[in-house]
Amino acid sequence: MTQQASRTAIVTGAARGIGAAVAKRLARDGFAVAVVDLDADACKPVVTEIESAGGRALAVGADVSDEQAVEAAVQRIAAELGAPTVLVNNAGIIRDNLLFKMSAGDWDAVMNVHLRGAFLMSRAAQKHMTEAGWGRIVNLSSTSALGNRGQANYSAAKAGLQGFTKTLAIELGKFGVTVNAIAPGFIETEMTAATAARVGVPFEDYKKGAAAQIPVRRVGRPEDIAHTVSFFVSEDAGFVSGQVIYVAGGPRA
Ligand code: NAP
Repeated sequence: MTQQASRTAIVTGAARGIGAAVAKRLARDGFAVAVVDLDADACKPVVTEIESAGGRALAVGADVSDEQAVEAAVQRIAAELGAPTVLVNNAGIIRDNLLFKMSAGDWDAVMNVHLRGAFLMSRAAQKHMTEAGWGRIVNLSSTSALGNRGQANYSAAKAGLQGFTKTLAIELGKFGVTVNAIAPGFIETEMTAATAARVGVPFEDYKKGAAAQIPVRRVGRPEDIAHTVSFFVSEDAGFVSGQVIYVAGGPRA
């Protein structure tokens, strides 16, 4: 039995996109995986795929921005899968608009899911990590943290997550807990498909246009991010903490 086989990981926003790929990869790495998303039913195909491959997984419905729902979800995961010592804060939404057209509701919604969500999930999970004397938190930032037209809310939240990551790394290091962030560039998911739809460009053309601007000349896949998560949560990455890796097919910042 590998060390991971006795460890439980939580992945939020894991019903689809990057989160689903991360959940499947961590299951393959040997973790029991809590697949968390707004709707538990939507998580079931990911759980079934993990179980069919011989892994352990649990579908959990929770809104990461809801304090009580988060506490209940983490308690249930600890009881049914084992104390969670890996947390991937991946749940996310976009509500893009230029500043002068951005509603306060769209600002708040994005802050709530990305920042409040990562805060509540990390606070709930850290007690299991500090008790175990071992833990890994990975936060999903974005290249948009560096600034992106039409994303004042999202870029502020994704830049905020980088500060959050570094602060948790400082606070939790002495408990054997590392905290890192991944800042993806263009990854092919429903989120980027929605952006293409909003700007009125067919997704295939949108991806081609994006790939032409990326040094490795392709757009990213959810598995590219899952691979980076797998590294950060691995046993041997215990001296890597408070870092932000841009996974964007080329350099950023
Ligand atoms: P996605 O396909 O839209 O998936 C996001 C998932 O998060 C959805 O299943 C969504 O559920 C869930 N979610 C939304 N709000 C939630 C909440 N309050 N509580 C729990 N779950 C919630 O997005 P993605 O492209 O895979 O992105 C995943 C993460 O990577 C996000 O943080 C995103 O900002 C970041 N990212 C993505 C890209 C990219 O190019 N795709 C680039 C940089 C960073 P519903 O389906 O029910 O809404």
